[in-house]
Amino acid sequence: MRSKAVVGNWKLNGSLVGNETLLKALLREIPRDNPVACVVCVPSPYLAQVRALLEGSGIAWGGQDLSRFAQGAYTGEVSGRMLVEFGSRYVIVGHSERRTIFGETDAVCTEKYVAAREAGLVPIFCVGETLQERERGETHEVLGRQVDALLQRFGAPGLDRGIVAYEPVWAIGTGKTATAAQADEAHAFIRRRIGAKDPDVAARLPILYGGSVKAANAAELFAMPNVDGGLVGGASLVAEEFLAIWRAAVAKVKGS
Ligand code: PEP
Repeated sequence: MRSKAVVGNWKLNGSLVGNETLLKALLREIPRDNPVACVVCVPSPYLAQVRALLEGSGIAWGGQDLSRFAQGAYTGEVSGRMLVEFGSRYVIVGHSERRTIFGETDAVCTEKYVAAREAGLVPIFCVGETLQERERGETHEVLGRQVDALLQRFGAPGLDRGIVAYEPVWAIGTGKTATAAQADEAHAFIRRRIGAKDPDVAARLPILYGGSVKAANAAELFAMPNVDGGLVGGASLVAEEFLAIWRAAVAKVKGS
């Protein structure tokens, strides 16, 4: 069975006091021996606090972005090695907000994926189409282009032990969610695309769904055969919501 994960993306949110309250609420519920990886991706300045609170627990943590460079004169950047020094195991790469607001191209996202792997992090590589692209019937073309950027650089083995997140841009932070069928169809397409190069890597690859996942829709999304968990923005800031999403993923693992 493929591994499952529920990943919180805090984005540009948090405070020392608020983080502690949120994480302590999660720690009360999430056991150390956890069948679904539970991860929080936090703003870099909070990594030390998060490590202090979560070390030895069933919750892992990581960054939301990393530099494509290892070190040097790159003001404002944070390297993969720095994330690892604070105990991070994961890093989000190519989130649509990085692509659209900060102009990250497929080539830059691919370099960041390489940098994450070189630092020993598990990259959570985000792909997804805009509303206009979906309406023009270009979803597969866009997903294919984004996945191919990685495949061309690495071949399928480079994706092994990574994670892909399908995040339709029109569903992120909008309250609109892809239907379970739309999500599963896109995930199956991504898996086929990678499977054409290496069926074993594709069969093992966790593909998370992201885009307005909440307690009320998590079970339906996670029930789909190609959906291996979620990348969760807004709802990851509310302990009860995030816990309910994580429980929905656990229920799928226990039921299958
Ligand atoms: C995200 O930040 O990746 C995301 C999916 O956000 P939201 O859950 O708020 O739509």
